[in-house]
Amino acid sequence: MDIIEKLESGKRLSYEDGLALYELDLFTLASFANKKKESLYGKKAFFNVNRHINPTNICKDICKFCAFSSNRKNPNPYTMTHEEILSAVEKSYKNDIKEVHIVSAHNPATGLQWYLEIFSKIKEKFPSLHVKALTAAEIHFLSTEYNLSHEQIIDKMVEYGVDSMPGGGAEIFDEEVRAYICKGKVSSQEWLDIHALWHSKGKMSNATMLFGHVEKRKDRIDHMLRLRDVQDKTNGFNAFIPLVYQRDNNYLKVEDFLSSTEILKTYAISRLMLDNIPHIKAYWATSTINLALIALEFGADDLDGTIEKEAIQSAAGAKSATGMNIKDFLDLITTSGFTPVERDSLYNELKRY
Ligand code: SF4
Repeated sequence: MDIIEKLESGKRLSYEDGLALYELDLFTLASFANKKKESLYGKKAFFNVNRHINPTNICKDICKFCAFSSNRKNPNPYTMTHEEILSAVEKSYKNDIKEVHIVSAHNPATGLQWYLEIFSKIKEKFPSLHVKALTAAEIHFLSTEYNLSHEQIIDKMVEYGVDSMPGGGAEIFDEEVRAYICKGKVSSQEWLDIHALWHSKGKMSNATMLFGHVEKRKDRIDHMLRLRDVQDKTNGFNAFIPLVYQRDNNYLKVEDFLSSTEILKTYAISRLMLDNIPHIKAYWATSTINLALIALEFGADDLDGTIEKEAIQSAAGAKSATGMNIKDFLDLITTSGFTPVERDSLYNELKRY
């Protein structure tokens, strides 16, 4: 059975099929991915009104692709106080945000309570806000730093008010590539196990993949399949988020950057391979808003949110530092031929525009 027949049959795709999909021409691939997406969501483009907060950039890890950490190429270390964090949330709360998305570097100087009390203080003051916080990489860092198990950290997250987990820190699961780009960080298996553990508590999370650096197509397919396996068991991933590697201010020597075609193919292939993860997010902060809007024709159904302020991708060259105004966001979606649908963090529909 060739790959077109396999796609038409609706059968689950294998590793070899994933590689064969990359060989298809862009528009054939797009038509299958878009058909799948439209069968689920029609012309809807999901987004949420959220605020990203990155409370510290001081990190004990040394990922080669990172421009956010203050370790090397970005020598402006900061750690926000809880008061500064609360004041930032308060400002955004007036803009009707529904979610705070909190991701930090791995700062050994702050203490465990500093991390945890960020969440309880936000919850206390803004009980209606959804707190999405702590990547599996941060959980692993806290567990090793404070000699606690992953489960103990997860139980504390629940106790201190974290509602869901972001998908960061997955990078690329292939062990050889991972050792090259982020040696010492949470291992691939630990990342997957931490998410499965989180799901076992009845909680949801997302999953990312950083691509467009030194990985190969085969590594992307392998990454998707490892996630698909976990999802078969837990059903706890809401969204898959392919993050396009940003090239500035880091130590990963990448000569060839991905073409837009390769990026769009990767979105489309994600939709087709990940038959059990409901949402594919084109995170505009890494892909650019223009490509993210085009990705809506290539299997993606979600654009993340207005963000308001973003420090991680923008440090590496993305144009996302100040987020996006909601009116512009809605206009762009509508003029691209889609129906903007504001969602909450768990993909319940809040408002159709
Ligand atoms: S990616 Fe995260 S863990 Fe790695 S160096 Fe940057 S801030 Fe630290």
